[in-house]
Amino acid sequence: MTDCLFCKIIQKAIPARIVHEDDHALAFDDINPQAPVHTLIIPKMHVSTVQDCLDKDADLLAHLLSACTHVAKQKGVADAGYRIVTNTGRDAGQTVFHLHFHVLGGRHLNWPPG
Ligand code: AMP
Ligand code: ZN
Repeated sequence: MTDCLFCKIIQKAIPARIVHEDDHALAFDDINPQAPVHTLIIPKMHVSTVQDCLDKDADLLAHLLSACTHVAKQKGVADAGYRIVTNTGRDAGQTVFHLHFHVLGGRHLNWPPG
């Protein structure tokens, strides 16, 4: 998608601190981190939200979650714990409409979220 910020990051048209890349996923540090570890994991294929994923996308979703666990390990938070978040739509405050999983860690995370 030409007008999507995260598609531009995938195309390397906009710089990002990339921490993982494979055929189907890209992970890069959030530009406005909310925790010592705050990395975004996105599919290389443009999908707006998790709600827009179809049954045929189940393998991709599994791959993205698996990438989240690899990033958590790479960032050194796998043992202490971390949170995977995907904001979906207006009420959740989604601002970028290219599916992304936030991996947050490196500090105690409050519950419930705001
Ligand atoms: P959300 O509010 O769940 O849609 O999350 C979008 C996230 O993208 C926010 O945490 C932003 O800080 C992050 N973000 C926006 N632009 C960039 C960028 N150019 N590079 C890295 N992260 C970004
Ligand atoms: Zn996109």
